Order: sequence, then C-alpha cells, then structure tokens
Amino acid sequence: MTENFKTRKIREKKNTPQKRRVVGVVRKTHRTQPETTQTTQTRKRVDNRKPQRFEQKKEVDLRSKQVRKPVEKKENTFRQSSNQNKKKPYQPKQQDRRRPSNTKFKRQDDKPKQDVFNKPGDDKLRIIPLGGCEEVGRNMTIFEYKNDIVIIDMGLQFPEEDMPGIDYIIPNTEYLKGKEKNVKAVIFTHGHMDHIGAAPILLERLGNPLIVGSKLTVHMIKGRMEDYKKGSSKNIQSKLVNSFNYKLKFGSFGLKLFPVAHSIMEAMGIILETPNGTVIHPGDWKIDDKLKAGKTGYEYLSKLKKPSILMLESLGVAYKKKPVPEEEMYKNLEKLIADAPGRVIIGTFASNVDRVKVILEMAEKYGKTVAVDGFSMKTNIQIAKKLGIVKFDLRQLIKIEKTLDLPDNKVVIMCTGAQGEENAVFNRIANGVHRSIKFKKSDTVIFSSSVIPGNERTVQRVKDLIYRQSDNVIHSEIMDVHSGGHATAAEVADVIRAIKPTYFVPVYANHYMLKEAAKIAKGIGYDDKHILIPDNGSVMEFSKTEAKMSDKKVEASPVFVDGLGISNLQNIVFRDRQILAQEGMVVVITTVARRTGKLIHNPDIISRGFVYLKENQELINQARNKIRKIVEERNTKEIDSDFLKNKIRNDIGQFLFSKTGKRPMVLPVVIEV
Ligand SMILES: [Zn+2]
Repeated sequence: MTENFKTRKIREKKNTPQKRRVVGVVRKTHRTQPETTQTTQTRKRVDNRKPQRFEQKKEVDLRSKQVRKPVEKKENTFRQSSNQNKKKPYQPKQQDRRRPSNTKFKRQDDKPKQDVFNKPGDDKLRIIPLGGCEEVGRNMTIFEYKNDIVIIDMGLQFPEEDMPGIDYIIPNTEYLKGKEKNVKAVIFTHGHMDHIGAAPILLERLGNPLIVGSKLTVHMIKGRMEDYKKGSSKNIQSKLVNSFNYKLKFGSFGLKLFPVAHSIMEAMGIILETPNGTVIHPGDWKIDDKLKAGKTGYEYLSKLKKPSILMLESLGVAYKKKPVPEEEMYKNLEKLIADAPGRVIIGTFASNVDRVKVILEMAEKYGKTVAVDGFSMKTNIQIAKKLGIVKFDLRQLIKIEKTLDLPDNKVVIMCTGAQGEENAVFNRIANGVHRSIKFKKSDTVIFSSSVIPGNERTVQRVKDLIYRQSDNVIHSEIMDVHSGGHATAAEVADVIRAIKPTYFVPVYANHYMLKEAAKIAKGIGYDDKHILIPDNGSVMEFSKTEAKMSDKKVEASPVFVDGLGISNLQNIVFRDRQILAQEGMVVVITTVARRTGKLIHNPDIISRGFVYLKENQELINQARNKIRKIVEERNTKEIDSDFLKNKIRNDIGQFLFSKTGKRPMVLPVVIEV
C-alpha cells in the first residue's frame, strides 16, 4: 500500500493545536458542562482541522465509565450515536488536559481480564485476526497456544469517507491487555503500510516485544517509529531473517520464513510450527513471473508437517487480469520515457524502491535526469541504499526544483501519490499547490500503481484533475505501467493445489473476497469443515484433529488515530463529527442576570450546516420564544446553569426536530452577568 503516513505526520507536526477564543468563553460558563466543552473542541477541529492533544486521555475516562461492546456494524454504531446526547455526558477533569508523556497509552482500565478462551489446561491453538479480514488494510493476526503468543503484522488502514477527520485506523488490541508478557514476538511479512503502519503505536502498547522480519522490513519499521516518536526505535529488539533455513523458537512455536514475490523487496512468508499443526502464511503474495509455467514456486510447502493451515491473502480474487510481468511493464515504461516530448512524471508507491533504480538506468540511457519527490519515497530510498539493497549513486537523483533548469525532454520525475492521497506529491501538483512545479500540456504523466480497493474515488478525482492539465496521461487501464503485487483467482487455485493444506483460511481482504477464495477452495474439493472464513475478532480454534470457529469473538472494533489522539468508535469526538456532518449544529447563547435570574438579551442563535438562517427567520423566532419561556418559567432567582442548559438542549433539540426533521447538535451557552 501507499506511504502517506509520513506525509500526514509532517502535517500533524506542523499543525500545533491553537487556542481559539471561543474555548475560553465556553469553558468558563460551562465548567461542569462537559458536552459543550467537548463539542467546542469538535467545532474547533472542524474549523481548523487541528489535532487535539487531550482527546486520547479524555477517551480513557470515558471508557472507564462506559461498558464497551464489540461493534458489529458501523451503521449501528452511528445510529446509536444520535442518541448519545441524552446520556449522562462525560465530565472532564482539569488534569485531563495534560497528557503524561511516558504513560501515553496507559489506560485506567489496564488490568488483566478474565480470559474466556484460554482457560488453564486448554491446549488449543487459537488464531485470532484483529484486522484485515473485513477490509484491505489493518492486517494483524494473533497466534496463541497456552501462554505463548506470536503476532503477524501490525498494519494500518486508510479512513473511509464516512470517517471525518480520521487520519488512519489501527487494529484493536483490547484482547492482549494483561497478556503483554505472553507476546514472544511480532513477525512482519513485508514493509507495506497495511502490514507495518500501526507498529509504532502497538509495539509500545505491548511493551516493545521482539520484532522479526527481513532487513528492509525491520528498518522500515524502525524508520516509522522514529518518525512517530524520536528515540523510540531504540527500545526495540529485532531479529533479521532472510533465509528459509533459519529457525527461531518462541515458547511452543517454531518459526521459519520463506521468500515471497510481492510488489516490495524482501517480502517473506511465515511458517509457524505449533503443537497442533503448521501454519503457512505468505503475507501478501503473487506468483514470481520468472517461474516456468505450471509452477507456483510454493510447491515445497506441501511437504510441511500436517495438519497444515494455509492462511492465504486473497485480495487477488478481485482482479480478473493477471498482473503484468515486471519485464513487460518496464518495457512499456522505457518506451514512454524514450518517446516523451516533454517531461515524464511518474506517480508510484513510495515503497517501490526497486522501480526507482530501473527508471534511473532507463533515464540515463536516454540522456535524461531523474528527480524524486515525496518524503516517504526519499526515506525509503535512503533506507534501501544504506542497507545496500539498491545499488546506485544517490547523487544521480536531483531535487525536483532543479528540474526547472533543464529542458523538459531531459526530465523524469518520480513521486508519491498515485492513490490520490491528500498530501502526496501527485495531488499537490494536480491541485496547483506544489512548491515548485505544475503539470504542463506536454508532460507525460504516468500512474504506475494499481488502485487499492477503497481508493477508487480519490484516484478518479486526481486523474480528472491531471487530465485537465496534461494531454498525455497513462494509467493501467490504458497501458500496463504497473506490475501489481497480488495474484489472481486462478493463481489462488494453483497455490492451494500446490500447497495442499489441511485447512484453508482466506485472509487479508474484504469479506466478499474471502468468500470468493473459499469458493475456489470448494471447487478444488475442500469441504466446509476444512475452510474457515474469519471476521476481525473471530477466534479459530485448532486441536490436533479438528478446527472450529468459536461462536465468541474478541473485541476488534476499529481504533482511530486522529492527529495525536487514539480512540475507538464510541469516542465522543468521532460521534460528534458524524452528527455535525449529517445534521449540522446550532449554538444557543442565553445571557442571564445573576441577581434576578432574568434574561438580559434576546437569546442568540448561531447555526452551521443546519438551515440557512436568513430564509428561516420564522423558525428562529419561534426557537427564541421557546428559550425565553424556558428561562422565564422557572420560579427561582437561582441560576442552575446545568439544568438550564440541559433543558435548552432537550427542548430546542426536540422543537427543531419537530419543525425540520433534523437533529442538529444543540450547544447551549449560558452566560451569567
Ligand atoms: Zn503488500
């Protein structure tokens, strides 16, 4: 997957939270009125898109008061959320505004839970995917046998369109709480963000267990960690493995890795020997295009000790077309570079370091110079160069602004952002906000990447923008300018036949793809007892003789990372954003005399995203009258501003709903003078 994690982090670093005037006002009059304070933050965030340092800590308190339930479906959660306003809101404490630096992810409910699955004397192998089985991304799987746990991958997922303000999503590790010491190792299959992106956060949360992976993968993880928190990679112990012959032992688990063909260098598959069977997990994979016909390259895995469990990334079943062999793709790219009348601008994945090398060679052949732009791409090139994985002189690469000094037909630019990521270079050039270059009619613009499922609309938008600015845009539907990293349905069948596992478990894709992969296995002759289709949080239990899907699930609802905060779906901030996005908001400002308890001004009503006030004067006047009544109908001089605010919120909310059918967020502000 793509690499916009880093560019996002830069944005976050730049966007230090700003105090806005309104916060002070509201806080003063609403010290005991938390929802208003909270929503003020939300408003602040909506206005400014600035991260909130204290969101995460707040969430902790919130959760200690609420019983968390596993979230089954997003829609349900959001439905519930519109009722949330009525619940007793969370009370912020003064100290919540500070985040203790060294207990960043320490939660107040951090205590071992009763383990409903792993009871003493139990000798089942449990495989629990925490993510990656209902979406593309957020890949993470737990393997548990007695008191030993190993984990494969810790990936992130990019947000969907109904997740306003969310930067990315990570797996929920609630199940591991209290079991941190059991985690013997975390094994990473390869360096794509959907496999390593959550590592900086989750490794720390698990007390920095040992990490295992290939050299490039481990260095990419350490790079991410440094980017997330300076110095944090020093807490990590790692084991570099790049040979099939190397065997590691983690309690009851034996581990071997094997090389896998994929769209990033040094991708490794995993063989996990357990007392109840051998797990084979290639991570993301494709068929090596150098192999002779009829071979998959994975045949030798059929000889492993049975029963064997093949956990197969099945994203490929969504692709009808066989990925183009790299040679063919490079031939096409070379022709484009050779014939380009002007500049060649190539958008690709930041992790495609090997592609940079080939393009450099091509450019040299045609007397052209290569510039690279995009923070994550530059970082990856440096890592690969430092490790000696790619061999070229970094001085051959020039800075993007230097290309302006060269004739257009001597310039090749490689950059990030072919997935339409907001802050990546492609998008910035397309939107005219890149610091030094703009697209020209004469440019040859190449999308050298496949569209990650879920990103179709954003990629389409960027494509449209670029088509307006340049006459020569090339992407995979026009010419094979990308060699994908995933196998096709036919190849999934070939691999199942080649490995002949006892059990087949499709993983790392949306549910429909897992089902399609299961159909393929059935077509080969596997029955339902030997195919398990997991969801996130499913618990697959393997004894020596049989496999079974437990009817209980572990918590696996998504965890959102938002600026510097980390939260789950139940989070107030997130729910508020949903309401604001769908229904808008109304602020009611009531000024009351402290001595008499009487209204001083006509109440002020401000709204955003609800109705156009100018055209709804009648509605506003009626609402004002209603507020006036609420204040005046009290038979006391005492001002109980909590009571007043709740009453205004409920009554005005109800009133607006009865008139408009909408439920805007109502923010009552009571000022005593
Ligand atoms: Zn991958």
